[in-house]
Amino acid sequence: MVLERGEVANSWRRERWDSLRLLTPNWQSRLPGYRYEGTEPDGYMSMGEVVEFISRFAIVSAAPVRSHTTVTSVRQTDAGYHIATTTGDLQCRTLVLASGACNVPSVPPVRQAVPASVPCVTAFDYRNPNSLPEGGVLVVGASATGVQLADEIHRSGRPVTLSVGEHVRLPRTYRGRDVLWWMDASGVWNQRYDEIDDLTRARSLPSPQLVGTPGRTTLDLNALSAIGVELVGRLAAVRDGRALFSGGLRNQFALADLKMERLLDTFDAWALTHARDADAAPPERFEPTRVPPSSRLSLHLRSGEIHSIVWATGFRPDYSWLDVPVVDRKGYLRHDGGVVDAQGMYALGLPLLRRRRSSFICGAEDDAREVVDHLAGYLAGHAR
Ligand SMILES: Cc1cc2nc3c(=O)[nH]c(=O)nc-3n(C[C@H](O)[C@H](O)[C@H](O)COP(=O)(O)OP(=O)(O)OC[C@H]3O[C@@H](n4cnc5c(N)ncnc54)[C@H](O)[C@@H]3O)c2cc1C
Repeated sequence: MVLERGEVANSWRRERWDSLRLLTPNWQSRLPGYRYEGTEPDGYMSMGEVVEFISRFAIVSAAPVRSHTTVTSVRQTDAGYHIATTTGDLQCRTLVLASGACNVPSVPPVRQAVPASVPCVTAFDYRNPNSLPEGGVLVVGASATGVQLADEIHRSGRPVTLSVGEHVRLPRTYRGRDVLWWMDASGVWNQRYDEIDDLTRARSLPSPQLVGTPGRTTLDLNALSAIGVELVGRLAAVRDGRALFSGGLRNQFALADLKMERLLDTFDAWALTHARDADAAPPERFEPTRVPPSSRLSLHLRSGEIHSIVWATGFRPDYSWLDVPVVDRKGYLRHDGGVVDAQGMYALGLPLLRRRRSSFICGAEDDAREVVDHLAGYLAGHAR
């Protein structure tokens, strides 16, 4: 039984901004035995299209979904688990936590020091620029969400200052193909969790600076500064009404550029060894991220320059309803490749659960097969 507090594809219906499109190309949208079959394999789905895609999968796969049922508590019992929900209680022997990796916005504590006169929104509340007051906007965070919102808000006529911390830079296309084609084909996206040295760090890496647009545009920091978005360093503190930014912008840029170059080298090496070099366009290298001549180290939040702040500082899961001690101090689930630290409990859909693509739509199929194999083995062992 699949329990869902809203409707099928709830997160795509309720928790995304209006203009969002998938950053993964259509051909990459696939679920077990089901894939995109439209006329634009290289396009990027709008939210309405994603809702339709997933809702159809629920019908085709005849998934036994019980919607409008919120799980309010999960307790371990001798026989398995006791599940309390808003539509009644259930018992089960095994349980898969597929409640998502992005249930709540993750906003740094520095938010508490922002003057009350400056309205703050997160990527969960933001729908479109009209929901913001007129005037300057500080966008905090420059990963996929931050760069997309900075671009959209700037284009609405509001001056945007973008606070940039650690980020992952990627071109939208490389050597004539979508960069995610290269991630897929070269095997980088398929890299397994047990092959990665620093798994904790890899699991906390920010999302890549990518956007899905009909023109397959690259939305990196050079593109944003070219249209007039002001780049400042990581927001380190807010003191006496002043936002204080770190001075490490040059280092952040250099690091992201270096990592991108290394990844492109990996793609080139793969193309050579797999006889794909000849049918791809020649290797490309991109202009380093331009460091602003003098980036501001502070910004007065009461001076009238900034009229709102958008926190694009990431998301985290919410396990407040899970009364089993399997969540660490920081609120993340303890698991080994989706096998949770409690008998008969499993997880899916978390960053790098079993592969680099685990938290993307196209990552569900292989992970689910392996996790369910383990689950079936557990049940069979139990039956014996
Ligand atoms: C802004 C944003 C953009 C993204 N863009 C892409 C993209 O371009 N391509 C891509 O492949 N992936 C993208 N992702 C990742 C995307 O979230 C995952 O690919 C996919 O949604 C994961 O599906 P899921 O079912 O694991 O989690 P979710 O989609 O989060 O679904 C979890 C479900 O659990 C329900 N739930 C949670 N708690 C409870 C409870 N207590 N009781 C009952 N139900 C509950 C929720 O209502 C929700 O429907 C994006 C994520 C975000 C946040």
